[in-house]
Amino acid sequence: MIKENLNRIKENIESVCKRFNRSPSEITTVAVTKTATLDNIKEIIDLGIQDIGENRLQEAILKFNRLSTIEYRPSTIKWHMVGHLQRNKVKEAVKVFDLVHSVDSLRLAEELDKQADKINKIQDILVQVNTSLEATKFGINPEETIEVIKQIVKLKNLNLRGLMTIAPLVNNPEDARPCFKKLRDLMDEINRPSIIDTRLSVLSMGMTDDYEVAIEEGATMIRLGRAIFK
Ligand SMILES: *Cc1c(COP(=O)(O)O)cnc(C)c1O
Repeated sequence: MIKENLNRIKENIESVCKRFNRSPSEITTVAVTKTATLDNIKEIIDLGIQDIGENRLQEAILKFNRLSTIEYRPSTIKWHMVGHLQRNKVKEAVKVFDLVHSVDSLRLAEELDKQADKINKIQDILVQVNTSLEATKFGINPEETIEVIKQIVKLKNLNLRGLMTIAPLVNNPEDARPCFKKLRDLMDEINRPSIIDTRLSVLSMGMTDDYEVAIEEGATMIRLGRAIFK
């Protein structure tokens, strides 16, 4: 079933890309494994998925260690932290994750920088933006994002690669579009000369219910859970 799901997702991505003149190779699918078993994860790795996402640190460490023990962690596999990260867990997180999508404050960025420095690592990160302005969602307010990013890029052990957002839960995926558009516009604005020296290229947006709309709006990373494992 997972195989069929992945094939269907691939076809959907190809068809959106064709309509919007994008190349499917621009889009990375991150398999979010919060509901998946270890066997499920082995299966998706065998089927060619190289990007694995978790929203809870402890769960990620458990799976990461088990897969390593059974020699199921080829160096090509990348681990993504997609959920909220507490500062007291950063020390563990920098040992595991290749990309942290959920940097939602300058203080968290500073802690990541400090802990990455201790293990001689340059930590790749995305800044999470609360494009829907929902009080229940983490993420930096869009209006404050540029100021925060100007501070974050000064941190030597972080490599800021782009932005991430979580759209609200809606029945019609079209209703998520404004959030995706807002994130893309924000990245374009940040990429204008003189804002920061580095160029951002990653837009992590789109989940099971809305990934096609997200791709239409420029997503380069989609985070899929149910679409793969259900
Ligand atoms: C669970 C989760 C996903 C995947 O959600 P689905 O709707 O199952 O595709 C993506 N991003 C984050 C941050 C998540 O927590």
